[in-house]
Amino acid sequence: MPNEAQSEATHVDVLIVGAGISGVGSAYHLKEQCPDKSFVILEMKDTFGGTWETHKYPGVRSDSDLYTFGYRFKPWIGAPIASAEEILKYMGEVIEENDIDDNILYGQRITGCSWSSEDSRWTVRAIRLADGAELTFTAGFLWMCQGYYDHENPFVPDWPSMDQYQGMFVHAQLWDPDIDYAGKKVLVIGSGATAATIIPAMAETAGHVTMLQRSPTYFFCSENRNELADRLREIGIDEPTVHRVVRAQITHDQDLMTKRCQTEPDAVFEELKALVRHYAGEDFEFEPHFTPNYRVWQQRLAFCPEGDIFKAAVAGQLSVVTDTLETFTEKGVRTSSGEEIEADIVIAATGFRLSVMGEIPFEVDGEAVDWHETVNYRGMMFTGVPNLAWVFGYFRASWTLRVDILGDFACNLLNHMDKIGARRVDVAMRDEDADMQILPWIEPDNFNPNYLMRDIDRLPQRGDRPEWRHNQDYWREREDIPATDLDGPEFLYDGERRSRDAMQNAAAG
Ligand SMILES: Cc1cc2nc3c(=O)[nH]c(=O)nc-3n(C[C@H](O)[C@H](O)[C@H](O)COP(=O)(O)OP(=O)(O)OC[C@H]3O[C@@H](n4cnc5c(N)ncnc54)[C@H](O)[C@@H]3O)c2cc1C
Repeated sequence: MPNEAQSEATHVDVLIVGAGISGVGSAYHLKEQCPDKSFVILEMKDTFGGTWETHKYPGVRSDSDLYTFGYRFKPWIGAPIASAEEILKYMGEVIEENDIDDNILYGQRITGCSWSSEDSRWTVRAIRLADGAELTFTAGFLWMCQGYYDHENPFVPDWPSMDQYQGMFVHAQLWDPDIDYAGKKVLVIGSGATAATIIPAMAETAGHVTMLQRSPTYFFCSENRNELADRLREIGIDEPTVHRVVRAQITHDQDLMTKRCQTEPDAVFEELKALVRHYAGEDFEFEPHFTPNYRVWQQRLAFCPEGDIFKAAVAGQLSVVTDTLETFTEKGVRTSSGEEIEADIVIAATGFRLSVMGEIPFEVDGEAVDWHETVNYRGMMFTGVPNLAWVFGYFRASWTLRVDILGDFACNLLNHMDKIGARRVDVAMRDEDADMQILPWIEPDNFNPNYLMRDIDRLPQRGDRPEWRHNQDYWREREDIPATDLDGPEFLYDGERRSRDAMQNAAAG
């Protein structure tokens, strides 16, 4: 793939945006299932990995098991919970084993995508960051794998008097591994998965760690091993089979757990507490710092290998404060109830700034796309925006399970278009959708993390029917999406519905 200055636009059949776990997985499926398609991945970083390359804070690791966060097609062989380094190694092997490297152009930031109906293609503008050269690509289909958050600018609340603080302030997303925290007083603000990872990793070396949380989180404590995987290996089962069976076990158990969280949340909480007690002792006190005020599973359940955060609390290495931050002070922060917390280093584990479609300006025939005016088709395609699929994964199950499902879907769609000779595909409301209520993307009683709720007005909308929602339900989608009728009335090819009559006539004639 050329990486020098261009005299004319480089054309590919498919352009994939981003070389994170979604982009690399999508490239694999494209190569496997549409071997004749030319494609390129444009990635603004200098290397692959996305999330796993961006985050460098102490202890950074997955909170999903890698049997399901790993791809369907490449067995995971290590412990279920993996470090960022191990995930990057796994992704590197996928790239190498499948000759994907030559298709990735690194250091290219996409700055605009315009669709032309006349040419039935996208024009994608990019800047090569090394020398500022402006590059242009054209593509028949855009496969958006740019993730959902801004990798460069994390979310920091607008706290009062931050400029008064004399210590070091850093957001976890921008953590530099050279920061020396040995013996220091560290304050971590936040209580989600990031805080749950960073705190135990720092607790032994730091002088003391305090976690300041607005509200508590649910934790799931467990050993970092999968008994079934260990047993299957012990009796000589091959790794592809171990991977397949353990994935089936985990997704089955998670389905049961999700259902139980809805039907008997109190019983589930008691079980989660029992797991904590196993590591932290029978008399561990849950009130007030470990009793969340939302239903279990409404937000991501933080995984806690070997009960590490609770062990740090019991060992006196960690204090928890549940309160709101009123103001920064010279030496740390003061909470609303007047507690002063001193810290040499304050780490904000306050989450992401949503990035809708990588904040890339999109146009369709010269008109700017306002994503909020579009309605999503199963959280992957959008009304009014042709020849584009977006990979947005699961939150309650591993993100990557959806990369595989959508990989199959997009490849089926591309192959179908070739079969019927179509150059353009749109999703559009059907007659039966005429009276459909149009609603915000997120269902408030479903999964509602703050970074999505904050920017709900910038996200595409949804309808109240299965086709027009991103339901975050892996167990339904793994049946529904592969069974999609690509000639159904929600698809337009070259601007037209493939009506049954027309197809039958074409077949007959
Ligand atoms: C610390 C952390 C831990 C997580 N752990 C889990 C977990 O255990 N399980 C789970 O299911 N999920 C987890 N997640 C969610 C996680 O982000 C996803 O699972 C997954 O890694 C997202 O992959 P992605 O490839 O879709 O996006 P990203 O990893 O965000 O990658 C997107 C890529 O696109 C590139 N890009 C974006 N815009 C442009 C542009 N304009 N031009 C060129 N390139 C661009 C970016 O540079 C980036 O490399 C975690 C998230 C974080 C932050």
